[in-house]
Amino acid sequence: MENKLSFYNTLTKKVEQFIPNIDGKAAMYTCGPTVYHYAHIGNLRCYIMEDLLEKTLRYIGYDVKRVMNITDVGHLSSDADTGEDKMLKGAKREHKTVLEIARFYTDAFFEDCRKLNIKTPDVVEPATNCITEFIHMIEVLIEKGYAYKSGGNIYFDTSRLQEYYVFSSQSEKELLVGVRDDVDVDENKKNKSDFVLWFTKSKFADQELKWESPWGIGYPGWHIECSCISMKHLGEYMDIHCGGVDNIFPHHTNEIAQSESYIGHKWCNYWFHVHHLNDITGKMSKSKGDFLTVSLLESKGYNPVVYRFFCLQSHYRKPLEFSYEVLDNMSAAYDKLIKKIGMLDKTGAIDSDKFALYKEKFASALCDDLNSSMAITVLYDMLKDDISDSTKYALAESFDEVLSLDLTTAYAAKEAENAIDSELESYVLARIEERTAAKKAKDFAKADAIRNELLEKGIVLEDTREGVKWKKA
Ligand code: AMP
Ligand code: ZN
Repeated sequence: MENKLSFYNTLTKKVEQFIPNIDGKAAMYTCGPTVYHYAHIGNLRCYIMEDLLEKTLRYIGYDVKRVMNITDVGHLSSDADTGEDKMLKGAKREHKTVLEIARFYTDAFFEDCRKLNIKTPDVVEPATNCITEFIHMIEVLIEKGYAYKSGGNIYFDTSRLQEYYVFSSQSEKELLVGVRDDVDVDENKKNKSDFVLWFTKSKFADQELKWESPWGIGYPGWHIECSCISMKHLGEYMDIHCGGVDNIFPHHTNEIAQSESYIGHKWCNYWFHVHHLNDITGKMSKSKGDFLTVSLLESKGYNPVVYRFFCLQSHYRKPLEFSYEVLDNMSAAYDKLIKKIGMLDKTGAIDSDKFALYKEKFASALCDDLNSSMAITVLYDMLKDDISDSTKYALAESFDEVLSLDLTTAYAAKEAENAIDSELESYVLARIEERTAAKKAKDFAKADAIRNELLEKGIVLEDTREGVKWKKA
C-alpha cells in the first residue's frame, strides 16, 4: 500500500495507522439500522461517513469486505430497558406485523442510501436469519461459564471478565456502572452490568417473533446479533467495526465481552465511531420536533446529495449541527461546483504527472484521519490550477469514487431536467391559452377536457384573479 491510512481508534484512544490482519484486505463490520421507522438524517450521517471510510480503503487499494446487520428483531438488552421494544412499537403504530414493518423500513433505508450514494455493504444480514447462530453462541458462552440462567432469561456474566469497560477511562467507568438501570432494575441480574443474551420472560411479553431454544421459547437480546453476524461472514479476526458514538456503550462494549469470551482471543482491532448530528434542539429524534428524513429534505426541494456534501465538509469526530441555512449555502456551493466541472472540455489529453500529483494529495487528505473537508479543498484547488480541462475532469471523476457527489454527472442531469421543465412550461402555457379561448367561446366541455388532460399529466390549474396559474401536482 502506498498510502497509509490512519484514523481514530476508540479502543486505544489514538489516531493509529491501519494495519489489517491480512495484508491488502480489510474486514469491516457496520451496525445496521433498527428498522422500525425511517432513518433520520443523523443515522444517515453515520452511514455516509462509514461509506467514506470503506471507499477510502478501496481507493488506496484495499480489498474490502463489509458486512452489515439489520436489526429486525427486538432492540432489548436487559429487562431494565424502559420504553417499549422499538420493533413492536413500530408494528403497533402502523397496525402491521413486525416482519411487515421490518421489510418496509429496510427497503426505505436502502432507498435513502441510494439517494445519498451510499454503497450497499457486500453482505447485509437481517438478525431474524441467524437465530440458530445466536443460540449456538449462547450455548458456548454458558458452557464456558460466561453466561447464566436467571428468571427465565440467559444473562452474560460481566464479573467473569478481567476488563469489561474496555472503551472507557477510570472516571468514566465509575459513572457507567449501572447507567442503564437508573429507572428500572432487573432483579434477575447478578451484576449491574450483566446483559441479556436470550429472553424467555420479559415485561414485553407480547413479542410477535419468538423461537424455540434450549431455554424455552423466546428471542435474542440486541448485542448478540452483531457478534454472530460479523463472525459468520468475517471470521474470528475482524479489522474495523463501525457505528455511531452512542453505540460505544453498552452495545459495542457488550459485543466485545461476548465475542472475545466466545472465541478466546482478541476479536477486532479498530473501532471507528461517528459523532452525532444534532438539530437546534439538541439530539436528533424520531419522535420529537421535526423528524428530519431524506424525503423531508426532498420535499423542501433539496437534492439529497447536497446533504452528503454537507456531511463531508465536516469531520466525522466532531458533532455536527444541522440547519437549513447551512444546507442552503451548501446547495449553492454544490451547484457552482458541478457547473464548473460540467462545463469542462473533456476531449484533450490528460497530464499524467498532474493527475498523479493531485490523486496523491487527495488520498493523503483522506488518509489523515479521513479529513474529508481537506479532500474537498484539494478538489477546489485542483479545479483552480492551470491544468488541462480533461485532466481536471478525469481527476473529478477519480475523486468521486470516494466522495460520491455525482461530480461529473450532476450538471448534465440538471440541464436535461431544466430542458424538460422549459419544454413542459411552453406546452402547459399553450394549453392554458387554448382553454381560455374555449371558455370565452363558451365551449366549457373543451375547457374541462384541457384541464383534465393536464391533470392526468400531473399539472394542476388554478383560476385566480390574476389569471390561470399552474403547478405540478
Ligand atoms: P439505530 O437505527 O437507532 O440502531 O441507529 C443506526 C445508526 O445511527 C447507529 O450506528 C447509531 O449509532 C447512529 N446514530 C443514531 N443517532 C445518530 C445521530 N443523531 N447522528 C449520527 N448517528 C446517529
Ligand atoms: Zn451492532
